[in-house]
Amino acid sequence: MIECKSKREIELMRKAGAIVASVFKGIQPHIKPGVSTQELADIAENIIRSQGATPTFKGYGGFPGAICVSINETLIHGIPSKKVILKEGDIVSLDVGATYNGYCGDACRTYPVGQVSDEAARLMKVTEESFWYGVSKIKPGIRLGDVSNAIQQYNESHGYSIPRDYTGHGIGTHLHEDPMIPNYGKAGTGPILLEGMCLAIEPMVASGKHQTRVLPDEWTVKMRDGKLSAHYENTIVVTSDGYEVLTTYEGEKINNVKS
Ligand code: MG
Repeated sequence: MIECKSKREIELMRKAGAIVASVFKGIQPHIKPGVSTQELADIAENIIRSQGATPTFKGYGGFPGAICVSINETLIHGIPSKKVILKEGDIVSLDVGATYNGYCGDACRTYPVGQVSDEAARLMKVTEESFWYGVSKIKPGIRLGDVSNAIQQYNESHGYSIPRDYTGHGIGTHLHEDPMIPNYGKAGTGPILLEGMCLAIEPMVASGKHQTRVLPDEWTVKMRDGKLSAHYENTIVVTSDGYEVLTTYEGEKINNVKS
């Protein structure tokens, strides 16, 4: 069953979402060659805790880090480490969760490290655009498959592929709630969206083939073919006439595309 949140709950989701967004705002100046992924996680954790929230991912299912930091061909769930150092030309995704008064926000951005290749820049841009393209469909009465299908079509029309094993999700007092939100699917299928549903929509996009593998650490997910991947996510709430994004900050540059 997909829960519809009350006004009071949505207000708490907004606060959790704003804390997640503040991490992106605060961390960007630190994303440069020579910085370890552990340093980025420490900065994120400080920003989250300084606002009376906790990093949702720390200890979630046993995950050891405060956030996930995934570089290049690592699709998701990269574990922060002092030994993993950002280099010029990398692309790095930061997946951030914050829990505030029992409610969760969840979002991800992929950032360039210094100057990146045109190929990497295009992948990041299209991944983000596919999120906005998909969510521009959202209003009460549409089906979830309309969003999934739009995300799939947008990425595939740019020559990219969609890993199948990882999806977006409902979100609220739990990080992962119903429904599962695949980044692929058929329009006109799946649950009908209603006002008050809170959803974490997160295109994970491969520049090569869609197959992934999990490293022996049982977390890190890499593209099997070793090609670049990117990830973009926001938590949104379905409103009476559309949607509201809860995890962007005022003035954040976004690559918006409407369907
Ligand atoms: Mg998520």
